[in-house]
Amino acid sequence: MKTGSDTPKILIVDDAAINIQLLNDVLQDNNRVFFATNGRDAIRIAANTVPDLVLLDIMMPDMDGYEVCREFKADPLLKDIPIIFITAMSQQEDESSGLELGAVDYITKPFNPAIVRLRVRNQLELKRQRDLLGRLSCLDGLTGLANRRGLDEYLDKEWRRALRNRTPISVIMIDIDHFKDYNDSYGHLAGDDCLKRVAYMLEGTLERPADFVARYGGEEFVGILPETELPGTMIIAEKLRYVIEAVQIPHSSSQVAPYVTISVGATCGVPAPELEARELLNRADQLLYQAKRNGRNQVAGDQE
Ligand code: GH3
Ligand code: MG
Ligand code: MG
Repeated sequence: MKTGSDTPKILIVDDAAINIQLLNDVLQDNNRVFFATNGRDAIRIAANTVPDLVLLDIMMPDMDGYEVCREFKADPLLKDIPIIFITAMSQQEDESSGLELGAVDYITKPFNPAIVRLRVRNQLELKRQRDLLGRLSCLDGLTGLANRRGLDEYLDKEWRRALRNRTPISVIMIDIDHFKDYNDSYGHLAGDDCLKRVAYMLEGTLERPADFVARYGGEEFVGILPETELPGTMIIAEKLRYVIEAVQIPHSSSQVAPYVTISVGATCGVPAPELEARELLNRADQLLYQAKRNGRNQVAGDQE
């Protein structure tokens, strides 16, 4: 069995061990193969491994393939995993009901190894392209950081995790000072270069694996620090401010310093049913404007 990190993961679900054996023989050379012999195990294993493709038998005792498919489609984590149904040659109506449920293809028993291999390969290739497009649509083209959409997805995921674990989460809002003047002095292309450098510095300064920074729009960036209280967040925010000032990107028309500087708003909250992620973003934005009013090139922070 292959084990590289980009080797496709396939989950085979069939109550008959012989079918699992046959499919495994066909697929194991190019894929990491996982098995389940009933629907419950299939859902549990899928939640743990998040496979790239599921081969799902329709006729199973207890929970049949249709039910398993419905549960996959109702679960945010599993709903985009393509499902190929396994069906006996004679069961034509199965195909339409399965496709209506969102299955992407069919494999009929008895298996023809060449056809199984091709159908699986086609679906894995489509999945790979979808994943790639999905990743690109979350990235900002100029800086390579996550864009607003990427931020929304990350914040949503971390917010739900923090809600489950009752842990704090911090939001840092960052805006370049007098950036309009920078563009006016050096031109828009130099402005773009400046944004790239600032993005690179911000990303390089956040050290924990869960820390995350996105381009929020224009010359604004947002940092997300899961499991971080306000004092720790203030230290990071100050470090970001310091790092940008210390690289000394010349900015002759800035009224704050002869270099590019940033203003920062930092806040922290513990997710609860009455506290939404958006409120933390709004709070960080208000604090950012407080930092601007107080003279720029500084951090303003408090607790939500
Ligand atoms: P403040 O200190 O109050 O933040 O002033 P500012 O000039 O930075 O703020 P303002 O919002 O007035 O101007 C933001 C500027 O950022 C205006 C816009 O031309 C520039 N900008 C936004 N996106 C880009 C971009 O992608 N590339 C370049 N070069 N400039 C951009
Ligand atoms: Mg600005
Ligand atoms: Mg701005």
